[in-house]
Amino acid sequence: MDHFLYQDGELFAEDVSLRDIAAQVGTPFYCYSAATLTRHFNLFDEALAGMEHLVCYAMKANSNQAVLKLLGDMGAGMDVVSGGEYRRARAAGVPGERIVFSGVGKTEEEMRLAISGGIRQFNIESEPEMVLLSSVAVSLGAEVPVTIRVNPDVDAKTHEKISTGKKGDKFGIPISRAVEVYAQAAALPGLKVIGIDVHIGSQMVDLEPFRLAFRKVAELTEVLRGEGHEIARLDLGGGLGIPYERSNADPPLPRDFGQVVREEVGHLGCEIEIEPGRLIAGNAGVLVSKVIYVKSGEDRNFLILDAAMNDLIRPAMYGAYHDIIPLSEPKPGAEPATYDVVGPVCESGDTFTKQRVMAEMGPGELVAFRSAGAYGAVMSSEYNSRPLIPEVLVRGDQFAVIRPRPTFDEMINRDTIPPWL
Ligand SMILES: *Cc1c(COP(=O)(O)O)cnc(C)c1O
Repeated sequence: MDHFLYQDGELFAEDVSLRDIAAQVGTPFYCYSAATLTRHFNLFDEALAGMEHLVCYAMKANSNQAVLKLLGDMGAGMDVVSGGEYRRARAAGVPGERIVFSGVGKTEEEMRLAISGGIRQFNIESEPEMVLLSSVAVSLGAEVPVTIRVNPDVDAKTHEKISTGKKGDKFGIPISRAVEVYAQAAALPGLKVIGIDVHIGSQMVDLEPFRLAFRKVAELTEVLRGEGHEIARLDLGGGLGIPYERSNADPPLPRDFGQVVREEVGHLGCEIEIEPGRLIAGNAGVLVSKVIYVKSGEDRNFLILDAAMNDLIRPAMYGAYHDIIPLSEPKPGAEPATYDVVGPVCESGDTFTKQRVMAEMGPGELVAFRSAGAYGAVMSSEYNSRPLIPEVLVRGDQFAVIRPRPTFDEMINRDTIPPWL
């Protein structure tokens, strides 16, 4: 459920007309709903009720300061994957003790930053990382809490680019080697082993892979405890999918996910962390764009928009589906049209969808891409010298620009010409 609904024939974000926002900030732009973000965080929080837990929002999905502040003020932790994300989380007021640091390539500099600034735990992904973290911790006189990310070799049944828990993926250590690697970690100074981490993929619409992975983590917990390790915390990652295509079957809800957690690891008495990103932010955002032209091709019609792959890369990168709906609600019984929906960028890959049956559109009319709140703005670029597009946050009947559109001069003047040229 989200808060982007038609009211009297116009698409609203909560109680604000998207057309009114378009008139003030211009198109294209991203718009997020505070009520939807809040709702999704609460769903996860409630799903784990009765177990000691922390919902650590995977901020790579959408790391705007306003989004982080909103979630952080509700008590969310943050899952960060870079020093930049760590700094963003802290800048938004999230304390270090609620930040977990994931990622396969943490640098020494990033380790220093997080240890000195305060960190809940590092999720270690390899032996060389473990050795480096140990030496950095010792040099700072610290003892840092760590989990080790295990790769349970489970098929997440999702897009190959976002599958992370199968043999051959670059993430974590093979679960078959866990006993050995935990023994090494325990012997290293400066590290305090506190638990196990797992994250097997993204946009997962089936609970079975989660169940299999959590079961393996539960078994490993018993084994490691038997070896004398204190396993007090399980970080179970993120990855729950969202209904990009409204007409399709509904993916499982946070409540169902929580039930699987309870069934598979609830008996272990561990503190539970989860790292949802997409499910919190995805349906909390839309991308609003204007039709520039409707072009008749030889065998098809093109809807040419002012948004492009540089603004929303998911269709080009993953073949991802987004619902595209007009800001003016189609009249009942109106004949649909069929379009290839494309952007102005000079790449054939700049195609949002092909042969989409949707409302008939004319030039100047506005459309919204639904489910664009996660992995949208954060993955955008200025390819084709198209300035980054603004982000807007709505709460109730108020809205604010939470990242302005840079001017062309701002974009151009980031480059410098050497004096010798
Ligand atoms: C990307 C990622 C997440 C979030 O995944 P979603 O599918 O957005 O929920 C969580 N944990 C880690 C380690 C990740 O890399």
